Amino acid sequence: MHYDYDVIVIGAGHNALVSAAYLAQAGYRVGVFERRDIVGGAVSTKEIVSGYQFDLGGSAHILIRLTPIIEELKIERYGLDYIELDPLFFSPSPDDDSMFFYRSVTRTADHIESKFPGQGEAYHQFIQDWLPFSQTVRDIFLSTPGPLQLGKKMMFGPSAKMDWQQALGTILQPYGEVVDQYFTEEKIKAPLVWMAAQSGPPPTEPISAPFLLWHPLYHEGGIARPKGGSGMLTQALRAHIEAHGGAVFTSAPVEDILVENKRAVGVRVDGDIYMSRCVLSGTHILETLHHLLPEDQRPLSANPRVGNGFGAILRLALSEPVRYKAHPGNDARIALQLICRDRQQIMSAYADYLRGEPAQDPPIVAMTFSAVDDSLAPPGGEVLWLWAQYYPYELANGQSWDDIEDEVADRILDTFEQYAPGTRDKIVGQLFQHPLWLERELGLFRGNVMHLEMSLDQMFMMRPSLTMSGYRSHVDGLYLTGASTHPGGGIMGASGRNAARVILQDLQKKIY
Ligand SMILES: Cc1cc2nc3c(=O)[nH]c(=O)nc-3n(C[C@H](O)[C@H](O)[C@H](O)COP(=O)(O)OP(=O)(O)OC[C@H]3O[C@@H](n4cnc5c(N)ncnc54)[C@H](O)[C@@H]3O)c2cc1C
Repeated sequence: MHYDYDVIVIGAGHNALVSAAYLAQAGYRVGVFERRDIVGGAVSTKEIVSGYQFDLGGSAHILIRLTPIIEELKIERYGLDYIELDPLFFSPSPDDDSMFFYRSVTRTADHIESKFPGQGEAYHQFIQDWLPFSQTVRDIFLSTPGPLQLGKKMMFGPSAKMDWQQALGTILQPYGEVVDQYFTEEKIKAPLVWMAAQSGPPPTEPISAPFLLWHPLYHEGGIARPKGGSGMLTQALRAHIEAHGGAVFTSAPVEDILVENKRAVGVRVDGDIYMSRCVLSGTHILETLHHLLPEDQRPLSANPRVGNGFGAILRLALSEPVRYKAHPGNDARIALQLICRDRQQIMSAYADYLRGEPAQDPPIVAMTFSAVDDSLAPPGGEVLWLWAQYYPYELANGQSWDDIEDEVADRILDTFEQYAPGTRDKIVGQLFQHPLWLERELGLFRGNVMHLEMSLDQMFMMRPSLTMSGYRSHVDGLYLTGASTHPGGGIMGASGRNAARVILQDLQKKIY
C-alpha cells in the first residue's frame, strides 16, 4: 500500500501537535489536518480588536511547566519565549484588603502570617503535607493510566512515605471542605477553593480534594505566559513539526476516517484521500467516534459525560491598565487575579447554574497579561480577560445564548467594577465567549473547555472510557489524544506526549 504519511493527525489542538512533534522528531512522516484557519484549538491567539492580541482559549500556562515537554522538544528554539509570572495570584476583597501568593512558599507564608498570625504557618504545613502527593499525581499524569501503574506510583513515587490511612480521609473529601482542616480565615480559603474550582466540579463534589491538594505544584512549576500570546506555544510546535519534515494543513477539515479490514488507514479531507500507517485523532472524542468514523465502526456504548458547560470568558481591549481599589500597584496585574468574596459566592453561582441560569454574581479569574508583555496591546493599552463561572450551555426556559449574551457579559463586568471601578470607561473592544460560542468556534461540545467532565468517574483509566484509556481506540490503528483522554483538560500536553509514546512503540514493532 502507498502511504502519504506514517501518521495522520486529526486536529491541531496542543496535545495533537505535541504528539506530532514527538513523532516527527523520531523521524516519522507526519501530516496534521486542522479544520480552523489557525493551529492550536483552545490554545490560540488572534488579533480580534485592531492592535490587541486576544487568546481564544487557555491563557495561563501552568500544567505544561510541570512536564519535560518544552525541554525534550526544545520548543524554545522554534519561537516560544516563556515569561514567568510572580506573584502567582492576587486576591482582592470587597473591604479593599488584598492578599498575594508568590512563587516562593516562604514569601507567601510570611505575607499571610503578617496579615493573619498563625495562618502563614498553616500555609507552610499545607504545602509540606501535600507536596509529595501532588508530585505523585503529576507523575501519574505523565504516564498511560492503569490500576497497577496508579498503585505503584502511589506506593513507590514521591508520596511513598505518606501516611495513606490518614491521607485518604482527606483525599476522599470535597475540596471545598479540606481548607477548613488548615485555615480559619475565609480570605485565605476563598482564593484557594476558587482556584481549585477551575477544572469544573463544584466544591461540594465528593472525592474532589485532589483539585485543591494540587496547590503545592503552583509553587513548584510556577505560572508562565508565552510572549506574544498563548498561541505562540502552538505556533512554535507547528514550526518544530515542519522543521522535522512534517506537514501541517489548516482550513483542512477531516470528513471521514478511512477504515479498511477493521483498521484505520487514512482520512478524507475535502474529497481528497490521504493514506497512512496509522491515524491519531486529537479532536473531541464525540467528534471522532460519532462523526468521523464510518457508521458501522462507531462503538455502541461509548457515551462519556460532557456536562452542561461551566464557564464563560469576557475578553476586553482597554485603553488603559486595570487599577484595583485594593491594590493599585502593578504586581496585582501580573498575577492571576482571583476575585471571590467567599466560598458561598461560588456555591450561589453554582446554584444558579443548576437551575439552568447564568450566575448572577459570578466569581472571576481576571488576567491582564499586558502587564508583562507589551506586544499584546498598543502602548498604554491593556488586554483584560474575565473568566467567570458558572454558565450552563443549555439554558432554562428555552432561552438562547444569542439573546442573553450582552446582558450576561454586562453582569460579569458589573461584578468586576466593584473591585476595579472605571474599567467600563476604558473599553475599546470586546469578545464574549459563552458556552455556545465555545462549541461553535472551537468544537468544544456543550461548551466544556475540558471536553468531558473532570469528575473522578471520568479520570485516569476511565477517560474517555475503560476500553479506550490507553490512547488506543476500539479500531486498530486509530489512536486518541486530547483533553478527552487522560489526564484531561488544561494546557499540559501530557496526553499528547503519552499518546506519542504508545504510537512510537507500535511503529517500532512494525505492526503496521
Ligand atoms: C476559554 C478557555 C479558557 C481556558 N483557560 C485555560 C487556562 O488558562 N489554563 C489551562 O491550562 N487551560 C485552560 N483552558 C483549557 C485548555 O485550553 C483546553 O482544555 C486544551 O487546550 C484542550 O486541548 P486539546 O489538545 O484537547 O485540543 P483542542 O484545543 O480541543 O483542539 C482540538 C482541535 O481539533 C480540531 N478539529 C475538530 N474537528 C476536526 C476535524 N473534523 N478535522 C480537523 N480538525 C478538527 C479543532 O478545530 C481544534 O483545533 C481553557 C479553555 C478555554 C476554551
